[in-house]
Amino acid sequence: MKVKVSPIVLIKIIDAASQKLDREVGGFLIGKISDNCLNIVDVEFPESKGSESYVEIDPLAMAAVAEKLEKKGMRESIVGWWHSHPGFGANFMSSIDVNTQKIYQSLFDKAVALVVDPVPYVSSEDVKKLDFKIYRVVGESYEEVDWSFAVDDYWKIIGDVLKIISEARKQVLVADSSARKLLDVLELRKELSVLKESARNLSEIGSRFEKFQT
Ligand SMILES: [Zn+2]
Repeated sequence: MKVKVSPIVLIKIIDAASQKLDREVGGFLIGKISDNCLNIVDVEFPESKGSESYVEIDPLAMAAVAEKLEKKGMRESIVGWWHSHPGFGANFMSSIDVNTQKIYQSLFDKAVALVVDPVPYVSSEDVKKLDFKIYRVVGESYEEVDWSFAVDDYWKIIGDVLKIISEARKQVLVADSSARKLLDVLELRKELSVLKESARNLSEIGSRFEKFQT
């Protein structure tokens, strides 16, 4: 079986995995089979209800995703799952990973597991250094699945989009800190006017006091 991965799949996975380097994150792979080829076209994130709920099969989360796809009129469905191994490499599946993948394959026999370590990419900002692998369980063990890009010039597209995303994120941060500074200034002005008001009151009292004395 051939596996083809669309750029948006890796873009979403790299972006999500890069935001959380202190713990594993994951989600569903969306796609369909055509001409004996598994096309992975998108990812969906399960409703997060705990730290690592994705490693277990959550029938409710899967049903919610299936419903969402149906509402969007998509003919694709859940064809596997992905999760991150931040800092410890993508070249293995843990025994929990293997058990989870077994269940995915029992639900959909062509299901795959994508494992990604975002750290080499995050520390180098070179998308080609991204460490990720796609696996299937065979018997009691697992093996790597060959995959290919769904389009040419794949890495360039991913690199460009990631740059755009990180640039946008930086701009949001800048805008956020400017807004906060503005709020500080406004707050300061408010305090200043309160102070002025108090000073006025004080001087009024002072002048009345003077009148009283004379
Ligand atoms: Zn794992």
